[in-house]
Amino acid sequence: MASNSYIIVGAGVFGVSTAYTLIRKYPNASVTIVDRDAYDADSRVAASWDWNKVIRADYDDIIYCRLALEAQDIFEQDPLYQPFFHKTGIYWMCRTDYATQVVENYRKLGRKAELEAVSVKEARKLYGGLFEDADYSDVRDVLVNKTSGWANAGDALKAVTKKCIGLGVKYVVAETESLTFNGGRCTGVRTKKGDTLRADKIILSTGAFTAKLLEQAAKASNKPEISAGGRIIAGGITTGMTQLDEESYKRFANMPVAVQSYNATVGPFVGSLPPTRDRELKWWGQKIFKNTQNILGKPISAPPPESDYAQWKVARPLKEDIDYANSIFYGKNGASWKMEKHRICWDAFTSSSDFIISPHAGAQGLYVATCGSFHGYKFFPVLGKYVVQMLEGELEEELKSKWAWDRERPDEKLNPEFPRWEMKEILGAQAKL
Ligand SMILES: Cc1cc2nc3c(=O)[nH]c(=O)nc-3n(C[C@H](O)[C@H](O)[C@H](O)COP(=O)(O)OP(=O)(O)OC[C@H]3O[C@@H](n4cnc5c(N)ncnc54)[C@H](O)[C@@H]3O)c2cc1C
Repeated sequence: MASNSYIIVGAGVFGVSTAYTLIRKYPNASVTIVDRDAYDADSRVAASWDWNKVIRADYDDIIYCRLALEAQDIFEQDPLYQPFFHKTGIYWMCRTDYATQVVENYRKLGRKAELEAVSVKEARKLYGGLFEDADYSDVRDVLVNKTSGWANAGDALKAVTKKCIGLGVKYVVAETESLTFNGGRCTGVRTKKGDTLRADKIILSTGAFTAKLLEQAAKASNKPEISAGGRIIAGGITTGMTQLDEESYKRFANMPVAVQSYNATVGPFVGSLPPTRDRELKWWGQKIFKNTQNILGKPISAPPPESDYAQWKVARPLKEDIDYANSIFYGKNGASWKMEKHRICWDAFTSSSDFIISPHAGAQGLYVATCGSFHGYKFFPVLGKYVVQMLEGELEEELKSKWAWDRERPDEKLNPEFPRWEMKEILGAQAKL
């Protein structure tokens, strides 16, 4: 039986997908999204708000492979998502047996697609030799999947949010500072301006801000059980773009998404996305960092306190991470490119890189649906379906335990993507903007 009212804090892919699913399933329900930024603002802090994101089902984890295929089918076929999807293919330089595992997962799932593990010698010749000068040290083989691609991320997010509003979802621009409780039940949210909004179910899809928000709520309500307690870590990565000149654009316009993956000793995978309509080619860097601060007496990683997370203030050492990313994909081909736009993008991370889509164990009526762990965007079209199944106690057992609030947490050292730096450590005392 559905509740009548829902508040979803956060209008990234987790929150918007949930709102879209709820309002279509229960057209008469009251569904409110609360976000610090307007959905059509020129600049937003959401990780989901971006020029582009990789859309792929190339996962060695068969569950994410299955869910990503489900999502990608919607990206390809649903008129709401379809205009934003570009099936350019992916070119993934693998230093483990990742390529073979992905091919095997597609086979196990009975999915026919144009994908294969290609030898380095053969791969270098593909796509007119665009990646001939990449770093192939220790590369075992290259996964080439012609069916993967990328999406205009912010545009798709805006379109689906607009659709939600058209269907009756309320969108409130406000920063949520705390939560309200009646005994053991969460009853609503309190905004920074002092307004209180109430609903039967409160869903936090607040991305990188989640641990901080829960700490504020724990303190304000004197309920320590509300804290995230190390389950959720805010992590940042730098992105950078270059605007290609006419000649380079002609050469790179039809490039696939490119990925360099490493292992837990060396570091996370690094990526480069094909040029946008403004001819801007993008990278994300290899340094994933925490920003541990004293939040109400506890060391918690959270984005910088500025209302825009200081996301456009990118210091030199972080820009150098993008220069490095450029060099390992394009070598001499990209050596003269000028790096223009840099941004620090913050996401919520768990030590296993699994999402949290779960009731919060500390209060009834309170739910957490976030922790994209740097790979959540591609699931946009299906996240809401699984969040609503969770709200209604219908999530299949395997997903329930994978995404639970309380679950066994692997050693973070085994995860190449786990933030291994502190931002201040990278910047150093002398860092110049
Ligand atoms: C550099 C980078 C590259 C990535 N690349 C990819 C990729 O190629 N493919 C992919 O699938 N995934 C990728 N990801 C991951 C993906 O972007 C995220 O996992 C996903 O977007 C997270 O969605 P979310 O809804 O949890 O959070 P967000 O998108 O961050 O949204 C959270 C929302 O909550 C709001 N909010 C937070 N706190 C409050 C508050 N107190 N009050 C009101 N509102 C609040 C924010 O304003 C924001 O709009 C990448 C992430 C990064 C950082």
